[in-house]
Amino acid sequence: MRYDIITVPCLEDNYAYLVADKQTRQAILIDAPEAAPINKALKREKLTLTTLLLTHHHWDHVEGIDGLDKGDGFTIVGCAKDADRLPKLDQAVSPGDVMNILGTSVQVMAADGHTINHIAFYMPELTALFSGDSLMTHGCGRLFEGTPQQMFETVQGFAALPDNTKLYCGHNYADANLEFAAHCSPDPRALSQRKHHLNTLADENWPTTGVTLALEKQINPYLRTHLPQVKAAVGMPDADDAAVFAEIRARKDKF
Ligand SMILES: [Zn+2]
Repeated sequence: MRYDIITVPCLEDNYAYLVADKQTRQAILIDAPEAAPINKALKREKLTLTTLLLTHHHWDHVEGIDGLDKGDGFTIVGCAKDADRLPKLDQAVSPGDVMNILGTSVQVMAADGHTINHIAFYMPELTALFSGDSLMTHGCGRLFEGTPQQMFETVQGFAALPDNTKLYCGHNYADANLEFAAHCSPDPRALSQRKHHLNTLADENWPTTGVTLALEKQINPYLRTHLPQVKAAVGMPDADDAAVFAEIRARKDKF
């Protein structure tokens, strides 16, 4: 593999990501919550930033931009329809667009729900999905602007990606999400293994992100709303998938 994916913990519980070309030492950054840890990672890995991809406008995903090591300058990419709320974009993109950055394909995907005009970035060669605050490890983001139906459609779009796709999300909420997921009829074996694994990750201070969609489909309730056991667990055996999704999201807010 020509690329490395480096997770950079920022602020309280945010994650930024560097996609690094191992040969040229050029890098793509996904979201900029905080400059200092990102600059430190760039320096440690001897990387030059060429492109910043923004998932959405929330302050804890953009606030670090001004303090980033500029090097020869980097291109800021974000959603065209959200340009008025994002920092000044050098390249405005829309869902369905495909970019070629550092020699690899980057597909822009719609990810409405957490905010409107939230986008995600899928890199097929890296089998990696950078989902921001939409689909997260064992859960999904809060609905600040969008409807449950919009987040449902977002998650359905991701579910159609290959099962070996690794999910890189914007926050470390894995423990709380797993605790809630346990009430929505996850695969028992996957749940207990993952609980154990999360403890190990915490002990070593390792990130909880980069989980495959295959594993998420065993645990994450938002990817499992079509399953009879999940519908039964929320007392909605005859409801359609989107209604079950909305109910699960509403319960999480009160959890
Ligand atoms: Zn957010």
